[in-house]
Amino acid sequence: MKKNIQEKEIIRKFQRAQTTNMVITGVSLFILPLLVISGLLAEHNQLAIEKPLLYLCFAIIAIMFLSNIFLRRCPYCGMFMGKYRFFPSSCPNCGVKLK
Ligand SMILES: [Zn+2]
Repeated sequence: MKKNIQEKEIIRKFQRAQTTNMVITGVSLFILPLLVISGLLAEHNQLAIEKPLLYLCFAIIAIMFLSNIFLRRCPYCGMFMGKYRFFPSSCPNCGVKLK
């Protein structure tokens, strides 16, 4: 019984992390093209905002990268799962159920 509750808690934690990661990735993928477009428009209109836009692009890419590193981990053993399937049903390291 106790093990069951712990399992559910791990699954819940993992799913919450995956949802957060997906939202961060989705929002970033939505913002990046907008930044590129506004950068091109700024260049066309000779506004000097390319540099801040470029930094913003790097910041967003960094956030995406970090959220992938920190959120795509097994909530039980901490194993990084980026190189495995996108939605693993169990941890490839400790075998804990994630679905
Ligand atoms: Zn694990």
